[in-house]
Amino acid sequence: MSSPAPSPRIAVLGAGITGLTAAWHLQRAGLTPTVFEKGGRVGGAIGAVRTDGWLHELGPNSLLEGAASVAEFIDAAGLRERRLYAADAARQRYIVRGGRLVAMPASPGAFLTTGLFSWRAKLGLLGEPWRPRGPHDREESVADFVLRRLGREFLDYAVNPFVGGVYAGDPARLSVQHGFPKLHALEREHGSLLRGALKRRNTSGGPKGRIFSFPSGLEELPETLAATLGAAVRRRHEVRTVSRHGADWRIEFESGGERHSETFASVVCALPADALAALQLESAGPPGALQVLREIVHPPVASVLLGYRRADIRHPLDGFGFLVPQVERRPLLGSLFSSTLFPGRAPEGCVALTSFVGGVRNPELAGRDDAELRQIVHDELARLVGAGAPPVFTHIHRWPRAIPQYELGYRRFKDAIASVEAASPGLFIGGNARDGISLANCIESGRRLAGCAAAFVQARQALAATL
Ligand SMILES: Cc1cc2nc3c(=O)[nH]c(=O)nc-3n(C[C@H](O)[C@H](O)[C@H](O)COP(=O)(O)OP(=O)(O)OC[C@H]3O[C@@H](n4cnc5c(N)ncnc54)[C@H](O)[C@@H]3O)c2cc1C
Repeated sequence: MSSPAPSPRIAVLGAGITGLTAAWHLQRAGLTPTVFEKGGRVGGAIGAVRTDGWLHELGPNSLLEGAASVAEFIDAAGLRERRLYAADAARQRYIVRGGRLVAMPASPGAFLTTGLFSWRAKLGLLGEPWRPRGPHDREESVADFVLRRLGREFLDYAVNPFVGGVYAGDPARLSVQHGFPKLHALEREHGSLLRGALKRRNTSGGPKGRIFSFPSGLEELPETLAATLGAAVRRRHEVRTVSRHGADWRIEFESGGERHSETFASVVCALPADALAALQLESAGPPGALQVLREIVHPPVASVLLGYRRADIRHPLDGFGFLVPQVERRPLLGSLFSSTLFPGRAPEGCVALTSFVGGVRNPELAGRDDAELRQIVHDELARLVGAGAPPVFTHIHRWPRAIPQYELGYRRFKDAIASVEAASPGLFIGGNARDGISLANCIESGRRLAGCAAAFVQARQALAATL
């Protein structure tokens, strides 16, 4: 009796959330993934530091349970019981206007009475459904799109701070098609953002998308996936070269100061843009085609956690946090009221605020030294939330290349990736430079990549069986 053919080996490059999700799906499908991670830990941009009762999420702070696939994945990964939804007390979101925190209206009634927008702007919104669609033949910036549909005040006091919070980016430079495809689709499909949003709300049974994390922070997700994958995850294995080897792929990697190589039936690339560009991809499409990815802008961001005694902050911190519009000309992009959002972020009697500095708006600020950053953030918190005494705890983390900016002209990067893939049967590329920057986008990217690799090796096996 012949023994069954061994399950095809698939290389997964990068143990960020995209790569781990891909490997997890591949393993579940009965395939044999090997994850190569250059660092000593998994999770990529997801990571936390815990000290003396404080928890600082260094990168992403929460995950949006928007698509059903995210919730299903979390459940299937075994984390259903660990999921920690954002506290009800964190529903309120604030925007800085005129140097004060103003609550973002969360209902039509609150919209009518809010001081965040003028009457002129509110009345102008009524005309939105009748405004003509945008140009078909050219890409539009987020700023132009919002100006055209909603007007200046909504750009300045709603969209600009939101873009600062999500991308640490500038709406005048981001492409609405590539950076906010759902917003773009609302206009294309419904002719209006308001009409489209209402229709979607009616068909989907109301707004969904609760925000969550885990008791020990988001890191629980990559760590759980890595534990399930076991020895398939190889830390401190940096991939250098990917080349053809007959019908297979050869991966050359460095580990323990030595070069090694192994052969795989398929390769899933879940690397950041600069790592993709640095990869030596041989016999995989036009030479140097991925070099262009170096041009994707990734501004630096510093995440600054300041901890205070509760009694030293005047503001009730009754919300998610605040975002700062660019027109307010302040040094912060925004702050999260981290200890309101999730329990276990600060010791008893204390509060934790996580502030973001830098981005496309103020890249040089992210590089200031720790003492300066602490002072800048504390001074702002003193003015905006009434921090009346110095922080009792500080932790700072800098991201020299935080988030890829899906700027005008981004199509050329996606085209370069597609051209390499088209010339490289069995090689699939995803991650936040291609499939969107949110964790939900990356989880979906990992699922997509696993599906492509699985379909490829299964088709090859089926073909081999017929010969
Ligand atoms: C400050 C900050 C705040 C954010 N906040 C949020 C948020 O609140 N919500 C949200 O949804 N998203 C947020 N994001 C975005 C989100 O965290 C990222 O887009 C996402 O985590 C990217 O995942 P990834 O797996 O695609 O890439 P990465 O996390 O970058 O992982 C790639 C991995 O590849 C490894 N690698 C690189 N080169 C090699 C090589 N040659 N060989 C082997 N391995 C290699 C890296 O070490 C890394 O582990 C935030 C990001 C940042 C930086």
